[in-house]
Amino acid sequence: DDDPLSRRILEQVLVSAGYEVDSAGDGHEALGKVRAHRPDVVVTDWQMPVMDGLTLCRILKSTEETRFTHVLMLSARGETEAKVTGLETGADDYLVKPVEPVELQARVKVGLRLQRALFDLAAKNEILEKLALTDALTGLANRRAFLQALEAEVSRVDRHGRPASLLFLDLDHFKRVNDTHGHAAGDEVLAAFSQVLRRGCRRGDLAGRIGGEEFGVLLPATGLVPGSLVAERIRRSTEARPLGRTAPTAVTVSVGVASTEMLPAPREAAELLRLADEALYRAKSEGRNRVVAG
Ligand code: GH3
Ligand code: MG
Ligand code: MG
Repeated sequence: DDDPLSRRILEQVLVSAGYEVDSAGDGHEALGKVRAHRPDVVVTDWQMPVMDGLTLCRILKSTEETRFTHVLMLSARGETEAKVTGLETGADDYLVKPVEPVELQARVKVGLRLQRALFDLAAKNEILEKLALTDALTGLANRRAFLQALEAEVSRVDRHGRPASLLFLDLDHFKRVNDTHGHAAGDEVLAAFSQVLRRGCRRGDLAGRIGGEEFGVLLPATGLVPGSLVAERIRRSTEARPLGRTAPTAVTVSVGVASTEMLPAPREAAELLRLADEALYRAKSEGRNRVVAG
């Protein structure tokens, strides 16, 4: 509010209700403070010099970081048209001056209640989003997330001309692991193998579980030869020691490597995947526990 006395009274009413309050004499000053301190609720007068409350409201609601800030507009204008304008500009609530202190307190409380609900929802959404993209057993990217990343990377290759490689990994004779030690022990081996993959990856690489005992590693900015070296390192770490806790089991992995450097250059994620799958098939038929590139 541009009127110092009204501002002081407002402040007192809110402070006495237990809120932490900051104040500003016009919309522009308020905007700076909102950006700096991110309050839950903004109570703003309509008519102010420099920047009025309506403009402040419009900016807050059209800016990503502040669009969920609860805006309570105060105005001397009590006619319906003014209220509608305020609300349609994005104000979440509208009160006509003079305002009864208890009503202001009650309205601010409602604003905070809505804020909490919104933030809880946003936090839950974030968790759900993460779950939807994560493989529950291994914590790696799941099939959907991995294929999404693969598609994004392949389209970047087109634009920037830097290569990308893909490892397609399949544990050898994994059915035997289940048959010998049970499915639960098999799961432990899969989880332990995911750790081997993680350790074998560099920053910026992405490991994912494509399904069952099949995994993928996406290697951005990596050609076929360096990609094969990464694959070989993973292959060696896999055979180096038994995996799993309950029934540590020696396993090996076969790896197919494909790269956007190959000719004719694969232009789609599906094509790169098919090439890596074909290489993997050859690794299997040539005796397993090996890396085949291209
Ligand atoms: P190959 O060397 O040819 O790949 O032989 P394989 O036995 O690994 O291949 P196959 O595709 O015939 O069998 C895959 C096995 O992986 C069968 C299935 O029981 C097991 N498997 C797939 N998903 C899971 C899982 O989530 N947990 C466990 N424990 N086993 C799984
Ligand atoms: Mg398989
Ligand atoms: Mg297998």
